Amino acid sequence: MSTDLPHFRYHPDPVASGSVRESAEACACCDRRMGWIYTATFYTAQEVSGRFCPWCIADGSAAEQFEGEFTDAYALDGVSEETVEQVTHRTPGFHAWQDPYWLVHCNDAAAFLGEAGYAELAAHPEALDQLRLDLRMSGWHDTSQLEKFLTRLGQGASAMLFRCTVCGTHLAYADAT
Ligand SMILES: [Zn+2]
Ligand SMILES: [Zn+2]
Repeated sequence: MSTDLPHFRYHPDPVASGSVRESAEACACCDRRMGWIYTATFYTAQEVSGRFCPWCIADGSAAEQFEGEFTDAYALDGVSEETVEQVTHRTPGFHAWQDPYWLVHCNDAAAFLGEAGYAELAAHPEALDQLRLDLRMSGWHDTSQLEKFLTRLGQGASAMLFRCTVCGTHLAYADAT
């Protein structure tokens, strides 16, 4: 990374993923112009007049001040309370068609790497295999239809790619409209 952005264990390069970008905007939480601004999801019942700098995400102040969260906790099964808190309150979310959620592996939240098409997935066969299995379990019984859907990922629908923070395995879920 070319910047001195805070370190996010569960979202290691939010610039590459498109969740944080260079901007002269003032942060809605600390009111400072830090040169970087967060552009993805934040869920709160409060009125927020603007966007957050990555530092107010990292230290939890944005989530605390506006009583919100960057990601829904519902998929975070089997991880510690501390991890749930870190992912939902102190980690940048990401852009997706559906509400973004976090994958879990080895009883820890995985690190979000970014949106991926078929070519990127094919570079991580274990992610492709796991995605194929998940889709079959969710009702894709026609193998040729399923393979067609997979090879077209990146055109319209895409996959969200993660890497296990413990064992390094890649995993993904399909983000379809
Ligand atoms: Zn800030
Ligand atoms: Zn793992």
